[in-house]
This record gives sequence, structure tokens and C-alpha cells, in this order.
Amino acid sequence: MPHLAQHDKQRLFSGRLGGAGLGGGFIRAVELPSRAFRSMGTLAGITLGAAYADRIESVAEHIRAIFDRMEREMSAYRPDSAISELSRMAGVAPVAVSEDTFRVLDLGRHFASLSDGAFDHTVSPLASLWGFNGSRVPMAIPSDASIRERLKLVDYRRLVLQDGTAFLPVQGMAVDLGGIAKGYAVDRACDYCLGEGIEDFLIDFSGNVRAFGRPSRKEGWQIGVRDPFDGSRILGKIALPGGQAVATSGSYERFVEIMGEQFSHIIDPRTGYPVAGTASVTVLAADAVTADALSTAFFVVGLKGAGELLKKLSSVELLIVPDRYPADLRMTPGLAKILTTPKNARRSRL
Ligand code: AMP
Ligand code: MG
Repeated sequence: MPHLAQHDKQRLFSGRLGGAGLGGGFIRAVELPSRAFRSMGTLAGITLGAAYADRIESVAEHIRAIFDRMEREMSAYRPDSAISELSRMAGVAPVAVSEDTFRVLDLGRHFASLSDGAFDHTVSPLASLWGFNGSRVPMAIPSDASIRERLKLVDYRRLVLQDGTAFLPVQGMAVDLGGIAKGYAVDRACDYCLGEGIEDFLIDFSGNVRAFGRPSRKEGWQIGVRDPFDGSRILGKIALPGGQAVATSGSYERFVEIMGEQFSHIIDPRTGYPVAGTASVTVLAADAVTADALSTAFFVVGLKGAGELLKKLSSVELLIVPDRYPADLRMTPGLAKILTTPKNARRSRL
């Protein structure tokens, strides 16, 4: 879980973060009403401004229900989800999907095309070849021939979305919404809170964070960015502008080990290989689904491709930490303005 609101950090890492020299801010924030729960196999949390303390139970329950519903529809790990059905019916017939699932599939296509296929939610056949998505981890690195075979099954442009149905035209194609669904769920949870008239809140779904208003009159929301080289520490704090979202993709989150070598859970759909060279990517965007999809996309293109992808985007800020110790923080000017780091941190422009 790369980001946590300060209060969550203190609770989840119990004291260790205090040792990391965080100081200030989060002590008082700890008094805010908040709840954490598990959904989609990971941790989610909601924090409300102090004025809403008496509503925390009900709000948390509703948000949990929203997240759980998304999981039931979109998880590739649940054989009964619409997404599993879509993959099972590949090459056979279209399947009816909910409005949310349709939108996530469509948004996935949008970010896939924007990133020239660096983000591709049809990456699943490759992910399973490398031992992700519940598949057995291979004994040896997959052969070029087997990667080439799977590459033929990965192409977001072949996903057909029509009249509330989705269709994968070739048997063996499969969808994986792991790089986008949590961000989408956060946006829907924010809609719920706003609809309830709540003005100050922060939602955190496994590192996909969006916040509105402020935790107290004196300060705004501060988001810790996890140190990819030491999970008990943060690299810095982002002062999150109201209504905006941040997401982090990290190679430390999930990986497989094949013949003693670690491979990240983010796959380059253009080469078929797990991405190497990047430790973490943090994206700030206007909403959580954009931050989520783009953090995965920037992870794939890495430092080399970041400039080109940035040119196509507006209102997006970026932090890339290459996979070299000690951490070297490369960021856009807009992020530099809102990221506070310890004095000895190495930071520079992208
Ligand atoms: P995130 O943590 O948001 O970067 O998402 C990572 C997850 O997205 C992985 O665990 C996979 O489920 C999925 N994924 C892996 N590679 C890609 C890719 N190139 N495009 C889209 N989704 C991906
Ligand atoms: Mg993502």
C-alpha cells in the first residue's frame, strides 16, 4: 500500500513511521473519524473531517458495499464475475455487463490508446504466462516463442463494446482490470460522499487516493508516498489539492521469483516481458481512475518514455523513482511544488 493518509500510516505501521521522522500533522489527524476494511484482496480506508464523526459508520459501510460490488463484477480472481465470464466467452459470444463494468472497460480502452498500448487491460494472457493472476509461477523464464504466442492475444483494440455487452473475439484473450478498477471505485465512492453532502473526506484504496475539502481548518490533506526501498518509510509528503487524486504503482507491491530473479507484476504489453528499471511511479490527476491507469502506463514507459506521454496529457503531474538505490526522485515541476521531502533527498526534474 504505497500511500496512506498520515493517520493510517501511524496506525498501520504502528510507530515505525514516527521513527522515520515524519513529525507534525498526522498526530492531530489521528483524531479524525476513519475506518479501514479489506476489499478486492487489499486494504481500503475512509477518513472524514471531524464534523462528520457521527456518520463514519454509515459512510464506511456504503463505501465498502460499493467496493465489494465492483469486486464481484470486475475481479478476474472470481470465476463468477462478469470479467471472468467475458474471458471465458472469448471467441464464443458477447456477454452482458453492468454499466460500471462497461465504463471501466471503455475507460481502459481510452487510456490504452492514449498510452499507445503501454496500458492494456487485455494483458492478462501475458500476466498468467509469467505466473500472475493466480497462475502457477513457471520454473524457467518463458521462451520467446511462448511470449510471441501470448502477445497475439493481447490487443485492447480488439475488445468489442456494444449496447451494454463486451466481447473478446479470439479464444484465449482475457481482461485484467487490476490496473484501473480500484481508481474507478474510488471515484464512485467520492461521488457517494459528495452526494451525501460530505465536504471533507479522503478515500484510500490500496494507494489510490482521492480527497476533497480539508481535514481541519488549518491544513490540507497530506499523502505519504511510500519509499519503494523501505516499506516502513515514506519518501515524502504530497499536499493533495482538493478534489484531486494520486496513485502509485510499485514493483515492490507484487512480483514473482523465477530462477532467483524477481519479476514485477506490471507487464510491458509491447514486449511481453515484466517491466524492469522502475521502482515506483506516482501520478497526480483530476480523478482517481486517471491516476490509476496512468500510474500503470508510466510504469511501463519508464523514464525514457515519460516525456512523450506527458506531452499528450494536461493536468497530470508525475514522480518516477528509478530502480537504483539510493532513491532518486524525478518529477514534473508541478509535483515538485507540492512534494515535501527530507533535506537529504535526491530530487530533480524529469
Ligand atoms: P497498478 O498497481 O495500478 O499499477 O496495477 C497493476 C496491475 O495491473 C497488475 O497487477 C495487473 O493486474 C495489471 N497490469 C499489469 N500490466 C498491465 C499493463 N501493461 N496495462 C494494464 N494493466 C496491467
Ligand atoms: Mg494503476
